[in-house]
Amino acid sequence: MRLGVLTKAELVQSATRWAQGGVAAVLAEDPDSTDLHLADTLKAGAGLCDVDAVRVLVDEGPGRVNELIALGAMFDRDPDGALQLAREGGHSHARVVHAGGAATGAEIERALVDAVRLTAAAVMEHWFAVDLIVEGGRCRGVVALDPSGARQEVRAAHTLLASGGAGQLFSVTTNPEQSTGDGLAMAVRAGVPVADVEFMQFHPTALHHPQMPRPLLSEALRGHGALLRDSDGERFVDELASRDVVAKAMTARMLEQGTDHLWLDATGLEAFDERFPTIAAAVRAIGLDPTHDWLPIAPAAHYLSGGVVTDLSGATALPGLWACGEVACTGVHGANRLASNSLLEGMVFAPRVTEAIEAGRESPQPTGAMRAVMGAGAEIPGRPLTLPPLPPTCGADDAEKLRARLQRIMTAGAGVLRDAASLDATAQGLAEVADVAADPEVRNLAEAGWALVHAARAREESRGAHSRIDFPHTSDAFLVRLVLQ
Ligand SMILES: Cc1cc2nc3c(=O)[nH]c(=O)nc-3n(C[C@H](O)[C@H](O)[C@H](O)COP(=O)(O)OP(=O)(O)OC[C@H]3O[C@@H](n4cnc5c(N)ncnc54)[C@H](O)[C@@H]3O)c2cc1C
Repeated sequence: MRLGVLTKAELVQSATRWAQGGVAAVLAEDPDSTDLHLADTLKAGAGLCDVDAVRVLVDEGPGRVNELIALGAMFDRDPDGALQLAREGGHSHARVVHAGGAATGAEIERALVDAVRLTAAAVMEHWFAVDLIVEGGRCRGVVALDPSGARQEVRAAHTLLASGGAGQLFSVTTNPEQSTGDGLAMAVRAGVPVADVEFMQFHPTALHHPQMPRPLLSEALRGHGALLRDSDGERFVDELASRDVVAKAMTARMLEQGTDHLWLDATGLEAFDERFPTIAAAVRAIGLDPTHDWLPIAPAAHYLSGGVVTDLSGATALPGLWACGEVACTGVHGANRLASNSLLEGMVFAPRVTEAIEAGRESPQPTGAMRAVMGAGAEIPGRPLTLPPLPPTCGADDAEKLRARLQRIMTAGAGVLRDAASLDATAQGLAEVADVAADPEVRNLAEAGWALVHAARAREESRGAHSRIDFPHTSDAFLVRLVLQ
C-alpha cells in the first residue's frame, strides 16, 4: 500500500501530543487480567459499550503497545527495567503505561511521526480536508483546501478518517484548536451514520486560566489526597468518584454559588514537584505554588465518546471510507470513556483497518457498533434518528468571533448539565451561527454541535457523560445507540 497523510496543521499538531496519563493495557497478568480490564471498561461505559469491541480492545492492546515500543516509543521503567504501571480512576488494577511522567502522548506521537516520515508516500501538511468525494456509492478521497487555500481533489483507493475529537465545541476545553469535529461533520454531510455523539466527556479538573487548551490537573492528584473545595472552602463531593459524577457536582455547585471555578487543594501532598513535574511546571508558570496555593479549576470538554460508526475493522457504512481514533464510534466507550482507553483504541483499531484493506475488504460487516446500523443481532440495538439539515450558509461573519459565540452557546445549553429547553435554545443558536459561517472550520463545529444537540435532545435520561436535569435517572428504554443520519 502507498500511504498519504493529509493534515490541516503540522503533523505533530494533534490531541495525541497532549495526552498525559498513559495507555491502559494488561502487560503484567495476575492479579490483573484482560477480563478485569474488560469489566472496568464496561462499567465506565454505563451499559452502552459493545462487548465484542471491548474484547478486541483489551485482548489486542498489549501486543500493540509492544509494537509501539519496538517502533521506538520509550515508556517509563523501574530501575530493574520493568515497565512502570500506574492505576487510574475506574481501573481496578495498575495497568497504565506512561512516558516522561505525564508526557505520554508526546512520546507516542514522536515515535509515530518518525515512522510516518520514513514510510509515507506523501505527507501533506496544512491541507484542510473539506468534504468526502462520493461517487457511485463509494468514497474516492477528499476535496481539500491546499496551503494556498485553493480547492483540490485528493483521490485515494481508500480514505481513513483520523481527524480526532470536537472539544472546541465548548468555551473551556483541554483539546487543541485542531479538534473541531471536521471528520464528524464530513461524515454527516455525506449521509454516513454517526452514533453516541451526545456523550461528550468533561474532565472535572482543568486549570482555570485563560491559557488554551487548558492544562489538566490529573486525577492522580486526587488519588494522592488532593481535595475539592467550593468557593466557601467546603468539600462537596467524594474526590475519588468517577469523572462524570465529579464534573456534575462541580457544575451544580458553581451554578449555586454563581462562580465560574472552584478549587483543588493539593497543599497536603508530599513531594509535589518530584511526583508531578509536568503539572508543577504548568501551575508554577502562572505564578501559583501548589504547596501553598489552592489551584483554580473548572470542568473542561475533554473527549467525544461517539463518532462515525464502524465495524470491528474500522469500516464505516460508506464503502471505501474507514475511521479510527476519537472520530470513530467503535463501541468501546459506550456512554463514558474509561481513562487511558482512547490512545489504546487508536493503536488497536487503526492496524485493523490496514489489515482489512490488505485483505481486499470494501464494505462494513455486521460486527461491533456497526450492528446498530445494520440491525444484525446487536446487543445494543440502534435507534435511527433523522438529523434535520442545518440551514445553509448565506453570509460571512468574522470566523474567530463566530467560533467564540458558538462555544458560548454550546457551553450554556449543551454542556455538563442539559435540559430540553437549553438544548432547543442551543439548536436555535447553532442555526444562526451556521447562517453566517463561511469559514469551513466554524461550519464544521456548527454541524458537529448540531448532531450532538439532536442526540442529547432525543436521549431523555441521564447516563454516563450525558446528564439531563429534566430526566435525572437512567432509563432501560434508552439501552440503545442513537444513530444519526
Ligand atoms: C489534554 C489531554 C489529555 C489526554 N490524556 C489522555 C491519556 O492520558 N490517555 C488516553 O488514552 N487519552 C488521552 N487523551 C485523549 C487522546 O489524546 C485522544 O483521544 C487521542 O489522542 C485522539 O487521537 P486521534 O489520532 O484520533 O486524533 P488527534 O490526535 O487529535 O489527531 C487528529 C489529526 O487530524 C487533523 N485534522 C482534523 N481535522 C482535519 C481536517 N479537516 N483536515 C485535515 N486534517 C485534519 C488534526 O490536525 C490532527 O492532526 C487526552 C486528550 C487531551 C486533550
